[in-house]
Amino acid sequence: MFAQLAPWLKTARNALLDLLFPPRCVACRRSGNWFCAACQAQIQPIRPPLCAHCGRPSTRTPCPFCHKQPLAMNGTRAVAFFDHPLRQAIHALKYEQRTELAAPLGDLLSDYLRAHPLPADALIAVPLHPTRERERGYNQAALLAQAIHTRLGLPVWTDALTRVRATRTQTELNAAERRTNVAEAFAATARVAGARLVLVDDVLTTGATMNACAVALRECGAQTVWGVALARPRLD
Ligand SMILES: [Zn+2]
Ligand SMILES: [Zn+2]
Repeated sequence: MFAQLAPWLKTARNALLDLLFPPRCVACRRSGNWFCAACQAQIQPIRPPLCAHCGRPSTRTPCPFCHKQPLAMNGTRAVAFFDHPLRQAIHALKYEQRTELAAPLGDLLSDYLRAHPLPADALIAVPLHPTRERERGYNQAALLAQAIHTRLGLPVWTDALTRVRATRTQTELNAAERRTNVAEAFAATARVAGARLVLVDDVLTTGATMNACAVALRECGAQTVWGVALARPRLD
């Protein structure tokens, strides 16, 4: 019922509701915090063996996906599968103005990167188109990158990559359509020359968006580009 509200109004509504009702877990509704420990304990991490390129569970590198369509970047990784309750938490961060969730979800990414380090001079959030970011009031990927910065101290470059073309939402598109949809949607700056970069996003599906970001970064001379996301669907 609040889907059409402006971002500031949703934020105001949330602030008012927070005063009236203490935080409740977005996944199980238990009171106490926005994403409770019991729900976090249910998250299913993606465990090896993985394809060394795309990070999908696979005993072979390249996996069948990468064999068919090699990545234009060093590799991608996702922390966990896009299942309940992580799915609810990401949805609330993205669509319900629950920006508080960037802290616990950023912790998941930080713990992952600490255990599985990637070469990184800087983090870059996958950009939203400015129009979409205005509608939402924030970019959830940027909030996650900032949360990793707070925990691990890695710098976040906010001006190095921009989305120069609005794209259709990827949800209804197949892998080939996704690649066409996002091709040349991004532009990087000379700042990235020689840098080892890690792209940050909430959900990794086919990798088409991160790949398009990586193409732009490499055209401007980035040395390495990896991507990390909170979650990926089990089948994509
Ligand atoms: Zn919960
Ligand atoms: Zn692969």
